[in-house]
Amino acid sequence: MKDILLLKQGELILKGLNKRRFEQKLIGNIKRRLRSLGPFRVYSAQSAIYVEPEDEGINMDKALEAMQKVFGIVSVSRAYSCPKDPDAVFEAAHDYLREQLLAAHSFKVESRRSDKRFPMTSIALSQYVGGKLHNAYPHLRVDVHNPELTVNVEIREYSAYVHAGGLPGAGGLPVGTGGRAVSLLSGGIDSPVATWMAAKRGIAVIPVHFFSFPYTSEQAKQKVLDLASILSPYCGKMAVEIVPFTRIQEEIRKHCPEKYFTLLMRRFMMRISEKIAERNGCKALITGENLGQVASQTMEALAVTEECISLPVLRPLICFDKGEIVSIARKIGTYETSILPYEDCCTVFTPRHPKTKPRIEDVRQAEIPLDVSLLVDEAVENTERVDVPVWPL
Ligand code: ATP
Ligand code: MG
Repeated sequence: MKDILLLKQGELILKGLNKRRFEQKLIGNIKRRLRSLGPFRVYSAQSAIYVEPEDEGINMDKALEAMQKVFGIVSVSRAYSCPKDPDAVFEAAHDYLREQLLAAHSFKVESRRSDKRFPMTSIALSQYVGGKLHNAYPHLRVDVHNPELTVNVEIREYSAYVHAGGLPGAGGLPVGTGGRAVSLLSGGIDSPVATWMAAKRGIAVIPVHFFSFPYTSEQAKQKVLDLASILSPYCGKMAVEIVPFTRIQEEIRKHCPEKYFTLLMRRFMMRISEKIAERNGCKALITGENLGQVASQTMEALAVTEECISLPVLRPLICFDKGEIVSIARKIGTYETSILPYEDCCTVFTPRHPKTKPRIEDVRQAEIPLDVSLLVDEAVENTERVDVPVWPL
Protein backbone atom coordinates (compact mmCIF):
# COMPACT_ATOMS: atom_id res chain seq x y z
CA MET A 1 0.00 0.00 0.00
CA LYS A 2 1.11 3.48 -0.71
CA ASP A 3 0.29 6.89 0.77
CA ILE A 4 -0.43 9.34 -2.07
CA LEU A 5 -2.28 12.59 -2.77
CA LEU A 6 -5.25 12.60 -5.08
CA LEU A 7 -6.04 16.04 -6.49
CA LYS A 8 -9.30 17.01 -8.16
CA GLN A 9 -9.16 19.63 -10.86
CA GLY A 10 -11.67 22.46 -10.91
CA GLU A 11 -12.89 24.51 -13.81
CA LEU A 12 -10.23 23.40 -16.23
CA ILE A 13 -12.24 20.28 -16.88
CA LEU A 14 -14.62 22.58 -18.73
CA LYS A 15 -12.03 23.99 -21.06
CA GLY A 16 -12.59 21.68 -24.03
CA LEU A 17 -9.66 21.66 -26.42
CA ASN A 18 -7.56 23.74 -24.05
CA LYS A 19 -7.83 21.07 -21.41
CA ARG A 20 -4.48 19.50 -22.24
CA ARG A 21 -2.64 22.83 -22.08
CA PHE A 22 -4.29 23.71 -18.77
CA GLU A 23 -3.47 20.33 -17.32
CA GLN A 24 0.17 20.54 -18.38
CA LYS A 25 0.51 23.98 -16.79
CA LEU A 26 -1.09 22.69 -13.63
CA ILE A 27 1.20 19.65 -13.44
CA GLY A 28 4.23 21.89 -14.03
CA ASN A 29 3.12 24.19 -11.20
CA ILE A 30 2.54 21.21 -8.90
CA LYS A 31 5.99 19.79 -9.60
CA ARG A 32 7.66 23.12 -8.91
CA ARG A 33 5.88 23.49 -5.55
CA LEU A 34 6.88 19.96 -4.52
CA ARG A 35 10.50 20.18 -5.57
CA SER A 36 11.83 21.22 -2.16
CA LEU A 37 10.04 18.32 -0.42
CA GLY A 38 11.66 15.44 -2.30
CA PRO A 39 11.08 13.34 -5.42
CA PHE A 40 7.47 12.75 -6.53
CA ARG A 41 5.80 11.18 -9.52
CA VAL A 42 3.01 13.45 -10.73
CA TYR A 43 0.61 12.37 -13.47
CA SER A 44 -2.99 12.77 -14.50
CA ALA A 45 -5.59 10.20 -15.38
CA GLN A 46 -9.34 10.50 -15.69
CA SER A 47 -9.54 14.15 -14.58
CA ALA A 48 -7.61 13.53 -11.36
CA ILE A 49 -3.96 14.23 -10.64
CA TYR A 50 -1.89 11.76 -8.70
CA VAL A 51 1.03 12.78 -6.53
CA GLU A 52 3.12 9.81 -5.47
CA PRO A 53 6.18 10.13 -3.25
CA GLU A 54 9.20 8.30 -4.62
CA ASP A 55 11.15 8.18 -1.38
CA GLU A 56 10.47 6.90 2.08
CA GLY A 57 10.20 9.59 4.69
CA ILE A 58 8.81 12.38 2.51
CA ASN A 59 6.71 14.70 4.64
CA MET A 60 3.23 14.12 3.17
CA ASP A 61 1.60 16.63 5.55
CA LYS A 62 3.75 19.36 4.04
CA ALA A 63 3.04 18.10 0.54
CA LEU A 64 -0.68 18.23 1.26
CA GLU A 65 -0.42 21.74 2.63
CA ALA A 66 1.53 22.84 -0.45
CA MET A 67 -1.08 21.34 -2.78
CA GLN A 68 -3.86 23.24 -1.00
CA LYS A 69 -2.25 26.45 -2.28
CA VAL A 70 -1.98 25.50 -5.94
CA PHE A 71 -4.62 27.24 -8.06
CA GLY A 72 -6.62 24.95 -10.34
CA ILE A 73 -7.24 22.28 -7.69
CA VAL A 74 -10.58 22.09 -5.88
CA SER A 75 -9.86 19.28 -3.46
CA VAL A 76 -6.91 17.40 -2.07
CA SER A 77 -7.30 13.92 -0.57
CA ARG A 78 -4.68 11.93 1.17
CA ALA A 79 -5.34 8.46 -0.15
CA TYR A 80 -4.00 4.94 0.05
CA SER A 81 -3.58 2.96 -3.11
CA CYS A 82 -4.13 -0.79 -3.03
CA PRO A 83 -4.83 -3.61 -5.46
CA LYS A 84 -8.22 -3.56 -7.21
CA ASP A 85 -9.66 -6.29 -5.06
CA PRO A 86 -12.53 -5.99 -2.51
CA ASP A 87 -10.56 -7.58 0.32
CA ALA A 88 -7.50 -5.42 -0.34
CA VAL A 89 -9.79 -2.37 -0.31
CA PHE A 90 -11.23 -3.45 3.03
CA GLU A 91 -7.77 -3.94 4.50
CA ALA A 92 -6.59 -0.57 3.26
CA ALA A 93 -9.60 1.13 4.84
CA HIS A 94 -9.26 -0.90 8.01
CA ASP A 95 -5.59 -0.01 8.53
CA TYR A 96 -5.26 3.37 6.95
CA LEU A 97 -8.43 4.98 8.33
CA ARG A 98 -8.14 3.30 11.73
CA GLU A 99 -8.04 6.51 13.78
CA GLN A 100 -11.00 8.06 11.98
CA LEU A 101 -12.99 4.81 12.23
CA LEU A 102 -12.34 4.62 15.98
CA ALA A 103 -13.27 8.26 16.54
CA ALA A 104 -16.51 8.27 14.51
CA HIS A 105 -19.92 7.11 15.68
CA SER A 106 -21.47 6.60 12.25
CA PHE A 107 -20.10 5.89 8.80
CA LYS A 108 -20.84 4.84 5.28
CA VAL A 109 -18.78 3.58 2.35
CA GLU A 110 -19.12 5.36 -0.96
CA SER A 111 -17.59 3.75 -4.03
CA ARG A 112 -16.96 5.00 -7.54
CA ARG A 113 -15.69 3.00 -10.46
CA SER A 114 -14.09 4.79 -13.33
CA ASP A 115 -12.75 1.40 -14.37
CA LYS A 116 -15.97 -0.20 -15.57
CA ARG A 117 -14.24 -3.56 -16.03
CA PHE A 118 -14.19 -4.00 -12.26
CA PRO A 119 -16.50 -6.99 -11.65
CA MET A 120 -18.62 -5.55 -8.79
CA THR A 121 -21.03 -2.61 -9.04
CA SER A 122 -20.28 0.41 -6.87
CA ILE A 123 -23.18 -0.42 -4.59
CA ALA A 124 -22.11 -4.03 -4.15
CA LEU A 125 -18.55 -2.97 -3.37
CA SER A 126 -19.74 -0.40 -0.80
CA GLN A 127 -21.92 -3.03 0.86
CA TYR A 128 -19.10 -5.58 0.93
CA VAL A 129 -16.47 -3.20 2.36
CA GLY A 130 -19.01 -1.54 4.68
CA GLY A 131 -20.12 -4.92 6.10
CA LYS A 132 -16.57 -5.98 6.84
CA LEU A 133 -15.69 -2.62 8.41
CA HIS A 134 -18.84 -2.82 10.55
CA ASN A 135 -17.69 -6.21 11.85
CA ALA A 136 -14.21 -4.90 12.54
CA TYR A 137 -15.44 -1.73 14.28
CA PRO A 138 -18.71 -2.82 15.91
CA HIS A 139 -19.21 0.49 17.76
CA LEU A 140 -19.97 2.16 14.40
CA ARG A 141 -23.48 2.77 13.17
CA VAL A 142 -24.16 2.74 9.44
CA ASP A 143 -25.77 5.99 8.38
CA VAL A 144 -26.12 6.49 4.64
CA HIS A 145 -27.71 9.96 4.90
CA ASN A 146 -25.62 11.88 7.39
CA PRO A 147 -22.55 9.88 8.41
CA GLU A 148 -19.77 11.35 10.51
CA LEU A 149 -17.22 9.55 8.36
CA THR A 150 -17.44 8.68 4.69
CA VAL A 151 -15.00 6.03 3.53
CA ASN A 152 -14.41 6.76 -0.14
CA VAL A 153 -13.35 3.98 -2.45
CA GLU A 154 -12.28 4.80 -5.99
CA ILE A 155 -11.59 2.07 -8.50
CA ARG A 156 -9.43 3.77 -11.09
CA GLU A 157 -7.31 2.81 -14.05
CA TYR A 158 -4.15 1.64 -12.33
CA SER A 159 -5.22 1.01 -8.78
CA ALA A 160 -7.90 1.26 -6.13
CA TYR A 161 -7.82 4.17 -3.69
CA VAL A 162 -9.24 4.62 -0.23
CA HIS A 163 -9.60 7.97 1.51
CA ALA A 164 -11.72 9.80 4.05
CA GLY A 165 -12.72 12.72 1.83
CA GLY A 166 -10.93 15.71 0.44
CA LEU A 167 -9.77 18.93 2.00
CA PRO A 168 -10.56 22.10 0.08
CA GLY A 169 -8.07 23.23 -2.57
CA ALA A 170 -7.45 26.84 -3.55
CA GLY A 171 -9.79 26.69 -6.58
CA GLY A 172 -9.26 29.06 -9.49
CA LEU A 173 -7.22 28.36 -12.61
CA PRO A 174 -3.59 27.26 -12.95
CA VAL A 175 -1.18 30.21 -12.73
CA GLY A 176 0.15 30.99 -16.18
CA THR A 177 -2.97 30.03 -18.13
CA GLY A 178 -4.33 33.58 -17.97
CA GLY A 179 -1.31 35.47 -19.29
CA ARG A 180 0.97 37.81 -17.38
CA ALA A 181 0.34 41.09 -15.57
CA VAL A 182 2.19 43.58 -13.40
CA SER A 183 0.77 43.97 -9.90
CA LEU A 184 1.35 47.18 -7.97
CA LEU A 185 2.27 45.85 -4.56
CA SER A 186 2.36 48.25 -1.63
CA GLY A 187 2.83 47.14 1.95
CA GLY A 188 -0.88 47.61 2.69
CA ILE A 189 -3.68 45.12 3.23
CA ASP A 190 -5.33 45.46 -0.17
CA SER A 191 -2.74 44.97 -2.89
CA PRO A 192 -1.48 41.56 -1.64
CA VAL A 193 -5.10 40.37 -1.69
CA ALA A 194 -5.61 41.81 -5.19
CA THR A 195 -2.42 40.06 -6.34
CA TRP A 196 -3.62 36.77 -4.90
CA MET A 197 -7.02 37.13 -6.59
CA ALA A 198 -5.45 37.82 -9.97
CA ALA A 199 -3.20 34.77 -9.61
CA LYS A 200 -6.27 32.75 -8.66
CA ARG A 201 -7.71 33.46 -12.11
CA GLY A 202 -4.58 32.08 -13.74
CA ILE A 203 -2.51 35.26 -14.13
CA ALA A 204 1.26 35.02 -13.68
CA VAL A 205 2.07 38.11 -11.64
CA ILE A 206 5.11 40.38 -11.58
CA PRO A 207 5.01 42.57 -8.47
CA VAL A 208 6.19 46.17 -8.72
CA HIS A 209 6.88 48.28 -5.65
CA PHE A 210 7.55 52.03 -5.51
CA PHE A 211 10.12 52.83 -2.90
CA SER A 212 10.83 56.30 -1.52
CA PHE A 213 13.99 56.06 0.48
CA PRO A 214 14.64 57.79 2.91
CA TYR A 215 10.98 58.81 3.34
CA THR A 216 10.16 55.16 3.64
CA SER A 217 12.54 52.79 5.39
CA GLU A 218 14.41 49.61 4.46
CA GLN A 219 11.92 47.86 6.74
CA ALA A 220 9.06 49.05 4.53
CA LYS A 221 10.80 47.51 1.54
CA GLN A 222 11.51 44.28 3.41
CA LYS A 223 7.84 44.12 4.36
CA VAL A 224 6.86 44.13 0.68
CA LEU A 225 9.44 41.45 -0.13
CA ASP A 226 8.02 39.36 2.73
CA LEU A 227 4.49 39.83 1.38
CA ALA A 228 5.61 38.65 -2.06
CA SER A 229 7.27 35.69 -0.41
CA ILE A 230 4.07 34.80 1.52
CA LEU A 231 2.14 34.97 -1.76
CA SER A 232 4.56 32.78 -3.68
CA PRO A 233 3.23 29.36 -2.59
CA TYR A 234 0.09 30.51 -4.46
CA CYS A 235 1.55 32.70 -7.22
CA GLY A 236 4.75 30.77 -7.91
CA LYS A 237 8.24 32.04 -7.23
CA MET A 238 8.45 35.78 -7.89
CA ALA A 239 10.92 38.62 -8.25
CA VAL A 240 9.81 42.08 -7.12
CA GLU A 241 10.64 45.10 -9.28
CA ILE A 242 11.67 47.87 -6.87
CA VAL A 243 11.23 51.30 -8.47
CA PRO A 244 13.06 54.29 -6.94
CA PHE A 245 10.30 56.86 -6.47
CA THR A 246 11.86 59.56 -4.31
CA ARG A 247 12.88 61.94 -7.08
CA ILE A 248 9.42 61.89 -8.64
CA GLN A 249 7.72 62.61 -5.34
CA GLU A 250 10.08 65.47 -4.61
CA GLU A 251 9.53 66.96 -8.04
CA ILE A 252 5.76 66.77 -7.60
CA ARG A 253 6.01 68.37 -4.18
CA LYS A 254 8.22 71.15 -5.49
CA HIS A 255 6.25 72.04 -8.63
CA CYS A 256 2.60 70.98 -8.32
CA PRO A 257 -0.46 72.00 -6.28
CA GLU A 258 -0.75 70.00 -3.09
CA LYS A 259 -4.34 68.87 -3.68
CA TYR A 260 -3.15 66.83 -6.69
CA PHE A 261 -0.11 65.16 -5.03
CA THR A 262 -1.65 61.71 -4.67
CA LEU A 263 -3.23 61.67 -8.11
CA LEU A 264 -0.04 62.78 -9.84
CA MET A 265 1.94 60.19 -7.95
CA ARG A 266 -0.50 57.51 -8.94
CA ARG A 267 -0.29 58.53 -12.61
CA PHE A 268 3.48 58.10 -12.45
CA MET A 269 3.02 54.68 -10.90
CA MET A 270 0.76 53.74 -13.80
CA ARG A 271 3.16 54.97 -16.47
CA ILE A 272 6.18 53.27 -14.93
CA SER A 273 4.27 50.04 -14.35
CA GLU A 274 3.12 50.08 -17.96
CA LYS A 275 6.71 50.30 -19.16
CA ILE A 276 7.76 47.45 -16.88
CA ALA A 277 4.76 45.48 -18.13
CA GLU A 278 5.77 45.98 -21.76
CA ARG A 279 9.31 44.82 -21.04
CA ASN A 280 8.00 41.64 -19.49
CA GLY A 281 5.25 40.72 -21.92
CA CYS A 282 2.50 41.69 -19.47
CA LYS A 283 -0.93 42.61 -20.82
CA ALA A 284 -2.51 44.36 -17.82
CA LEU A 285 -1.86 46.13 -14.51
CA ILE A 286 -3.40 45.03 -11.21
CA THR A 287 -4.03 47.30 -8.24
CA GLY A 288 -5.66 46.97 -4.82
CA GLU A 289 -7.88 49.98 -5.46
CA ASN A 290 -11.33 49.91 -3.97
CA LEU A 291 -14.20 52.23 -4.76
CA GLY A 292 -14.69 54.97 -2.20
CA GLN A 293 -12.03 53.77 0.21
CA VAL A 294 -9.91 56.94 0.02
CA ALA A 295 -9.99 60.25 -1.89
CA SER A 296 -7.96 58.83 -4.77
CA GLN A 297 -10.45 56.01 -5.27
CA THR A 298 -13.58 57.84 -6.37
CA MET A 299 -14.75 57.07 -9.89
CA GLU A 300 -13.43 60.42 -11.10
CA ALA A 301 -10.04 59.87 -9.47
CA LEU A 302 -9.71 56.36 -10.86
CA ALA A 303 -10.46 57.69 -14.34
CA VAL A 304 -7.72 60.31 -13.97
CA THR A 305 -5.31 57.70 -12.62
CA GLU A 306 -5.60 55.42 -15.65
CA GLU A 307 -6.04 58.10 -18.30
CA CYS A 308 -2.30 58.32 -18.99
CA ILE A 309 -1.82 54.68 -20.01
CA SER A 310 -3.39 52.27 -22.46
CA LEU A 311 -3.03 48.87 -20.78
CA PRO A 312 -6.16 47.72 -18.95
CA VAL A 313 -6.10 48.16 -15.17
CA LEU A 314 -7.62 45.22 -13.30
CA ARG A 315 -8.95 46.02 -9.84
CA PRO A 316 -10.08 42.76 -8.29
CA LEU A 317 -11.19 44.46 -5.04
CA ILE A 318 -13.14 47.29 -6.58
CA CYS A 319 -16.48 46.47 -4.90
CA PHE A 320 -15.33 44.60 -1.81
CA ASP A 321 -15.97 45.84 1.72
CA LYS A 322 -12.92 46.27 3.93
CA GLY A 323 -14.06 43.40 6.16
CA GLU A 324 -14.22 41.07 3.18
CA ILE A 325 -10.71 42.06 2.11
CA VAL A 326 -9.37 41.57 5.63
CA SER A 327 -10.86 38.12 5.88
CA ILE A 328 -9.10 37.03 2.67
CA ALA A 329 -5.86 38.63 3.91
CA ARG A 330 -6.11 36.56 7.09
CA LYS A 331 -6.90 33.40 5.19
CA ILE A 332 -3.91 33.70 2.85
CA GLY A 333 -1.55 34.80 5.62
CA THR A 334 -0.68 38.35 4.50
CA TYR A 335 -2.64 40.26 7.13
CA GLU A 336 -0.18 40.11 10.02
CA THR A 337 2.63 41.40 7.81
CA SER A 338 0.46 44.06 6.14
CA ILE A 339 -0.42 45.68 9.45
CA LEU A 340 3.21 46.19 10.51
CA PRO A 341 3.52 49.94 11.01
CA TYR A 342 6.01 50.98 8.31
CA GLU A 343 4.98 53.99 6.26
CA ASP A 344 4.18 53.69 2.57
CA CYS A 345 5.25 56.34 0.08
CA CYS A 346 1.65 57.48 -0.46
CA THR A 347 1.06 58.15 3.23
CA VAL A 348 4.22 60.23 3.53
CA PHE A 349 3.08 62.69 0.87
CA THR A 350 -0.68 62.71 1.50
CA PRO A 351 -2.22 66.13 0.80
CA ARG A 352 -4.28 67.72 3.57
CA HIS A 353 -7.21 68.39 1.22
CA PRO A 354 -7.03 65.96 -1.70
CA LYS A 355 -9.23 66.56 -4.73
CA THR A 356 -11.96 63.91 -4.72
CA LYS A 357 -13.60 64.87 -8.02
CA PRO A 358 -10.65 65.86 -10.17
CA ARG A 359 -11.06 67.00 -13.78
CA ILE A 360 -8.61 65.58 -16.23
CA GLU A 361 -7.82 69.01 -17.78
CA ASP A 362 -6.81 70.37 -14.36
CA VAL A 363 -4.63 67.38 -13.61
CA ARG A 364 -2.87 67.66 -16.97
CA GLN A 365 -2.35 71.34 -16.25
CA ALA A 366 -0.87 70.53 -12.85
CA GLU A 367 1.58 68.16 -14.54
CA ILE A 368 2.96 70.70 -17.00
CA PRO A 369 5.97 71.80 -14.92
CA LEU A 370 7.24 68.20 -14.79
CA ASP A 371 9.40 66.47 -17.40
CA VAL A 372 7.20 63.41 -17.27
CA SER A 373 8.91 61.16 -19.80
CA LEU A 374 12.39 61.88 -18.42
CA LEU A 375 11.28 61.08 -14.87
CA VAL A 376 9.54 57.91 -16.01
CA ASP A 377 12.52 56.69 -18.05
CA GLU A 378 14.91 57.41 -15.22
CA ALA A 379 12.80 55.46 -12.73
CA VAL A 380 12.44 52.50 -15.10
CA GLU A 381 16.16 52.57 -15.80
CA ASN A 382 17.02 52.39 -12.10
CA THR A 383 14.50 49.72 -11.21
CA GLU A 384 16.03 46.86 -9.31
CA ARG A 385 14.78 43.28 -9.50
CA VAL A 386 14.86 41.38 -6.20
CA ASP A 387 14.27 37.63 -6.09
CA VAL A 388 12.15 36.53 -3.16
CA PRO A 389 12.32 33.07 -1.62
CA VAL A 390 9.18 30.98 -1.43
CA TRP A 391 7.79 31.39 2.10
CA PRO A 392 8.67 28.39 4.27
CA LEU A 393 5.69 26.10 4.57
P1 ATP B 1 -3.06 48.97 -0.17
O1 ATP B 1 -3.72 48.43 1.04
O2 ATP B 1 -2.85 47.96 -1.23
O3 ATP B 1 -1.82 49.76 0.14
P2 ATP B 1 -4.62 51.34 -0.17
O4 ATP B 1 -6.02 51.12 0.21
O5 ATP B 1 -3.67 51.81 0.87
O6 ATP B 1 -4.08 49.99 -0.83
P3 ATP B 1 -3.60 53.38 -1.92
O7 ATP B 1 -2.48 53.65 -0.98
O8 ATP B 1 -4.38 54.53 -2.45
O9 ATP B 1 -4.67 52.37 -1.37
O10 ATP B 1 -3.04 52.61 -3.15
C1 ATP B 1 -3.90 52.09 -4.11
C2 ATP B 1 -3.15 51.01 -4.87
O11 ATP B 1 -2.00 51.57 -5.51
C3 ATP B 1 -2.60 49.93 -3.99
O12 ATP B 1 -3.54 48.94 -3.71
C4 ATP B 1 -1.46 49.41 -4.82
O13 ATP B 1 -1.93 48.55 -5.84
C5 ATP B 1 -0.93 50.68 -5.46
N1 ATP B 1 0.16 51.26 -4.64
C6 ATP B 1 0.08 52.20 -3.70
N2 ATP B 1 1.31 52.47 -3.16
C7 ATP B 1 2.18 51.66 -3.79
C8 ATP B 1 3.59 51.42 -3.72
N3 ATP B 1 4.36 52.09 -2.87
N4 ATP B 1 4.12 50.49 -4.53
C9 ATP B 1 3.35 49.79 -5.40
N5 ATP B 1 2.04 49.98 -5.51
C10 ATP B 1 1.44 50.88 -4.73
MG1 MG C 1 -1.59 51.74 0.80
